[in-house]
Amino acid sequence: MGKTIAGETAVTMSDDAAADPAGFFPDGYVAARRAFLEAAARAGAEIDGRRHEEARAPAGEALWMDAARIGPQRPRRMLLILSGVHGVEGFCGSGVQTGTLRRLAEAAPLPPETALVMIHAVNPYGFAWLRRVNEDNVDLNRNFIDWAAGAPPTNPGYAALRPIFCPQEWDADANLAAADAKRAEIGERAWRAAHSGGQYEDPAGIFYGGTGPVWSQRALFDLLDAHVAGVERLAIVDLHTGLGPPGHGERIAMHDPGRPAMARARAWFGGDVTSTIAGDAVTAPLSGTALEGIERRYPAIETTAIALEFGTIDNRHVQLAVRADNWLHGQGAARGLLDDPAGYCIKQQIRDAFYPADPDWKRAVWRRAVATQRAMLAGLAGP
Ligand SMILES: [Zn+2]
Repeated sequence: MGKTIAGETAVTMSDDAAADPAGFFPDGYVAARRAFLEAAARAGAEIDGRRHEEARAPAGEALWMDAARIGPQRPRRMLLILSGVHGVEGFCGSGVQTGTLRRLAEAAPLPPETALVMIHAVNPYGFAWLRRVNEDNVDLNRNFIDWAAGAPPTNPGYAALRPIFCPQEWDADANLAAADAKRAEIGERAWRAAHSGGQYEDPAGIFYGGTGPVWSQRALFDLLDAHVAGVERLAIVDLHTGLGPPGHGERIAMHDPGRPAMARARAWFGGDVTSTIAGDAVTAPLSGTALEGIERRYPAIETTAIALEFGTIDNRHVQLAVRADNWLHGQGAARGLLDDPAGYCIKQQIRDAFYPADPDWKRAVWRRAVATQRAMLAGLAGP
């Protein structure tokens, strides 16, 4: 039910209406891309994309950032949905996007003069390789700082903890114990800032922001420039996983609490939205996010933007999976362990940390994403 075989074109509305939403969620990057493009074509979407010229999937397939657009050519309002800014988190985002294309009337009923644009796999390398980072070991959500504004932010707590973040040898139990002890010693806030706040000093380390705009940033703006021309009001949902209680979808705005954008977000969601800046969100204050970059690039557009962050497993083990993956692609790869059972084990661990296999988790994601998208479309159409 809801599955299609390759080449089949005659899927009726009733097939999809009856389909289990868990079936929208993909098994891998290549299958996800195929399903997204197929659903986009059936929905009559205009399709665009950028091919990555310097990176490939593990089996050699090409990597693409794809766009699908529904609605009028010159819309005044636009809902933009992003998936896979954090690579491996793209399983979740891709499932939401493909499901939305299959069930437009339910998941994204468009008011007049409103277009829907979806960008699929903003970080296709990380999606295909089961990594949060891109081909340059860069966390895209630390890469959109204003590079012209001077030196990047510093992370004073990072260097002292690097032996835990990036050990020479990987021993998961020992690493988790060391992390737990340090976290207890310095407190949750300081630990999180050092671990996940982002850093620009250690190119082989975790949560690295890079030295300038990376391919995904350039390709994203290249795609968006054409689509947002003439748009007056923009709403953005950036789909993420890995933080918060399992299955819960937190709407996180990065707008300043005193600004109209935050007031709009609160009104649209009936208060069900948190703020990284006010400090009530599951995410610490960040600089360099894709949402921040988009707002900076299009200052004339009234933008209301949220990250929709779905919890998976407990945070200690999500962070452990990120450190293990960083070790595997650095120390481990140098020793040929990417194609070793030890490597597979770490890959499975990071996949599970950001993409639970449980169909109930996928159904919960679907319901929350649909409610969020509908609230944003209603908000866009409002005063
Ligand atoms: Zn994320």
